[in-house]
Amino acid sequence: MTVARILADKGGSIVATTPERTLDEAIHLLAEKRIGALVVCHPDGSVAGIISERDIMRALAKLGGAAFDAPVAEHMTADVVTCRRSTSVEDVMHLMTEGRFRHVPVCEDGKLVGLVSIGDVVKTRIAAVEAEHQALRDYITMA
Ligand code: AMP
Repeated sequence: MTVARILADKGGSIVATTPERTLDEAIHLLAEKRIGALVVCHPDGSVAGIISERDIMRALAKLGGAAFDAPVAEHMTADVVTCRRSTSVEDVMHLMTEGRFRHVPVCEDGKLVGLVSIGDVVKTRIAAVEAEHQALRDYITMA
């Protein structure tokens, strides 16, 4: 199974921000959308970075209240690991495990087209395992 299937299931909406926005704006967007990370995009749609709740926690621990006014660019991860629509779900799982992060932006031709979270991956894996079990049960019943 590929990332394209996950994106088809969850719909195409991407919640993104820009480097010059403040952490306060990012926090409100994360809370409003009930998500854990925002992809940071340049105006042309290319990925500038990713900022997750962990980056915000680190900024708050370091700067206290002053973190709210800091720009996203100063606290995001700029070296982002991305995947493509054609990447397999297993490969995304490996990227997340190796990199110790829970989000992987999906890019095509240098432009952001989606985001896969660890929750999406787990949901897809559970569905695949349940389908396998059902197929085995059906096979045993028929035998
Ligand atoms: P997360 O587990 O996704 O909340 O992120 C943990 C840390 O990894 C944070 O510092 C994020 O900025 C960073 N991070 C999240 N996703 C990625 C990614 N795809 N590539 C590189 N760093 C990431």
